[in-house]
Amino acid sequence: MSVERLAELVRARQPCVVLTGAGISTESGIPDFRSPTGIWAQVDPMEVASIDAFLADPEKVWEFYGRRLDALAAAEPNDGHRALAELEERGWVRAVITQNIDRLHERAGSRELVEVHGSIRTASCLDCGEVVPFDEVVRLLPLPRCPRCGRVLKPDVVMFGELLDEATIARAAELAVEAALLLVVGSSLEVYPVAGLPAETLAAGGSLAIVNRDETQYDARASVRIRAGAGETLRAVAELLR
Ligand SMILES: [Zn+2]
Repeated sequence: MSVERLAELVRARQPCVVLTGAGISTESGIPDFRSPTGIWAQVDPMEVASIDAFLADPEKVWEFYGRRLDALAAAEPNDGHRALAELEERGWVRAVITQNIDRLHERAGSRELVEVHGSIRTASCLDCGEVVPFDEVVRLLPLPRCPRCGRVLKPDVVMFGELLDEATIARAAELAVEAALLLVVGSSLEVYPVAGLPAETLAAGGSLAIVNRDETQYDARASVRIRAGAGETLRAVAELLR
């Protein structure tokens, strides 16, 4: 029933902008961060994923990222990623804003993509500015160094203690304001400034739909609320809109 309502909402409220979090990628075997079984339950993000940790001990940070890159390189897009790419192709989805760094939206075929926390697509040298693509970074593991100057590369993901890229978050906010429907998928909406995007949509007169297994602070203000997996839900919505 809720899936039908969600499909109706997507049909009626255009443009639809999608906001995704870790919950869409767990079905690809990628652990999330904040759940009890998530990554941050096992390691302290300040020790392995903060800019201070990277500057103090890049080797330790790469020990963590190297394992993640291996897992991410082996992961495949799932039904949720593929359904969103199909919905975009058919004109039902204007853009996908994602908190994920895993490239799975891109690999599924999403084109209008705003990656607010950066991406593992590249790593950069903080000294000379050299940018190294993912495949080469993986080859350079366990400790990828700049091919030009030898400094340890930094993954182009937003680390704790770093600000989000200004132009990227501005684009996300612009999309949230323009959205007649903001469809949140697999995000617990806890991490700002992304967690503030639904408020921007609502303030501008748009509607909110949420597909997430856990509660979020916006549940009471959502027009549709589905507590189920992203893959099955989005696949069903895409089928209804064919
Ligand atoms: Zn360099």
